[in-house]
Amino acid sequence: MNRLDESIMILKGIGSSKAKKLSKLGIKTIRDLLHYYPKRYKDKRVITNIKDVFPGGYFNIKGTIRDKAEVMKSRKGMLITKFIVYDSTGALVVIFYNNRFAKDLFKPGDTVIFSGKTSLINNKITMECPEYEKVVSNSINNFRIVPEYGLTEGLSQKEIRKLIYAALEYTDNTLEEIFPADFRKEFKLAEINFSIRNIHFPEDEKSLNMALRRLKFQEVFFLQSYMFKLRGNYNAEEKGIEFKAYNEVKDLVKKLPYKLTRAQERVLEEVLLDMSRPTAMNRLIQGDVGSGKTVIAFLALINCVKSGYQGVMMAPTEILAAQHFDTIKSYLDIIKENISVALVTGSLKMSYRKEIQEEIRNGNIKIVIGTHALLSDELEFNNLGLVITDEQHRFGVRQRAMLKSKGLNPDMLVMSATPIPRTLSLVLYGDLDISVIDELPPNRKKIETYFIGSDKKERLFNFVKKHLDEGRQAYIVCPLVEESEKLELISAKEYCEELKKSYFKDYNIGLIYGKMKNEEKEKIMDDFYNGRIHIIVSTTVIEVGINVPNATIMIIENAERFGLAQLHQLRGRVGRGNYQSYCILISDSDSKSVKDRLKFMTKTNDGFLIAKKDLELRGSGEILGTKQHGMPEFKLIDLSKDHDIIKASKEAVDLLFKKKKIKEHQYHKMEKYLDDEFARITVEIALN
Ligand code: ADP
Ligand code: MG
Repeated sequence: MNRLDESIMILKGIGSSKAKKLSKLGIKTIRDLLHYYPKRYKDKRVITNIKDVFPGGYFNIKGTIRDKAEVMKSRKGMLITKFIVYDSTGALVVIFYNNRFAKDLFKPGDTVIFSGKTSLINNKITMECPEYEKVVSNSINNFRIVPEYGLTEGLSQKEIRKLIYAALEYTDNTLEEIFPADFRKEFKLAEINFSIRNIHFPEDEKSLNMALRRLKFQEVFFLQSYMFKLRGNYNAEEKGIEFKAYNEVKDLVKKLPYKLTRAQERVLEEVLLDMSRPTAMNRLIQGDVGSGKTVIAFLALINCVKSGYQGVMMAPTEILAAQHFDTIKSYLDIIKENISVALVTGSLKMSYRKEIQEEIRNGNIKIVIGTHALLSDELEFNNLGLVITDEQHRFGVRQRAMLKSKGLNPDMLVMSATPIPRTLSLVLYGDLDISVIDELPPNRKKIETYFIGSDKKERLFNFVKKHLDEGRQAYIVCPLVEESEKLELISAKEYCEELKKSYFKDYNIGLIYGKMKNEEKEKIMDDFYNGRIHIIVSTTVIEVGINVPNATIMIIENAERFGLAQLHQLRGRVGRGNYQSYCILISDSDSKSVKDRLKFMTKTNDGFLIAKKDLELRGSGEILGTKQHGMPEFKLIDLSKDHDIIKASKEAVDLLFKKKKIKEHQYHKMEKYLDDEFARITVEIALN
């Protein structure tokens, strides 16, 4: 057996209780241990002479204990254990509090390293409760850049350092290098054993940076390769469809009820040209909420149908799918085209579903709109030519690939309102072309955004009433459905009842939440759309894509619970018609970072700025929606910072899969390793 796969129990000093604690950190095997990377490092290379130590700093000192500890009780009954440490330049007091065992920590003659903050106590420079280590020759806790790990209860830094050190000794530089030497040279990658050793116990800064670069590269490389394989487009030369209805589509554009914006024109051109090429399109349309992506999707579908193929569009919710279905049918009416469209969702009646499936299979139905229900094996197309996914960050890579596999290398169009950072899109899609709709249709007014405390609610509700009386409508979003005792959050249900009884008893209020039956949801959305309901109280199900131009007020309760991107999505539900719209963020949070975040929302409507800020704020631990994308989270890669490494890795993936430069035997070795790694990634993804 490979030593890496062995249980950590094989190491000295791990019993079943330690093993249990480690398994809480996800560490079971030697491999896990070696890949449990430090969270940060402390530079303990510098030892300060005691004479140079001053109060109020952080120092590492090395000295000898000459006398036994002095143990005393403070007036308040605290147990104080005091040692004096001497080096050749002076002496220093070290104090431990309330530790019965402290007096036996050191005996006269011990040489010890202490690291800690200094202060002035009784006019003497003192270290209180410092880290300490008796000096042995090969120290892993001192005289070096020292790693610090994420811990769990009952596990100390020293213990985990010791275990990782032991694991390094156990494997003794025998980790297999999968990247061939010339490949490593080309991409400036350090060797694997060097890297693993140095990420834990760096020789110096340079070695640490080399190790980090290598391991970051490797991390993103596996994932990119995996995505590449999953997409199944590693043979980019594979023939796609040449769609031929460019001119017809251009003529139809003139019949639309409005003039396309310049940005829409440009993106449409990019899409149509791409579709007319013999290779398969793989394109992302990125456009802020309300920028008018749907009509582009519609025109792409027309191009597809007019060229003799079927097209499909998948949306993340039934409400959204139904809305697309309606929109597309009304566009078809307007341009007077007789093309059959079907809506496929999970709530279709069985008999009707069978009927529709048959019509799709025999090619009578040309355009299919739907939800995840489209992925069902029973749904087969006659000749699928175009696959569109809307608000794609809701879909996993596998789901898109599944839909794609229902045709023969069909063109792919992905639409997203959340700007995906270039770094993430490189990981997720590799060779994806991006079209940006960076202009809103004319006459859109900026959504005025305010941030208030709940004490201002009465005024707010009067403001809402005024607008309702003018014929407008409002959304109120709350984070939870049911009342929760633990969190003082506004629950949608309670809230709705409350409003019905008091402030808004003369108005119609509808409640929508995720677990509701679809027919109920649809009924309420329909009532809202047709103006029979004035206010919708909802959870975040409302977030995605809904288009009711008459709704002009968006109120978000407990706004601190939402991330910037999510707030922006929610806000995008209003400001869709010609009326001035408003978004009111309510929060009583005292946290400065929350307040800053919400204030940021009041200052900009720019989805790109907001997405950028969102990524910065979330930092490296909680990468933008990688979980949503069905990806394991990165341990090392920081999407907001590691652009260069991600790009380099993308090049490497291209090299590998297009086999341009890598020799055959090297390729096979790497591919075998990748397969193992993919198996692991798949498990992680399944667990997410
Ligand atoms: P999103 O990009 O968020 O999906 P939609 O496609 O739903 O946006 O479009 C939002 C609204 O803008 C729709 O009501 C649509 O009819 C309208 N719209 C789209 N393009 C234009 C345009 N060029 N001029 C005027 N209105 C437009
Ligand atoms: Mg949309």
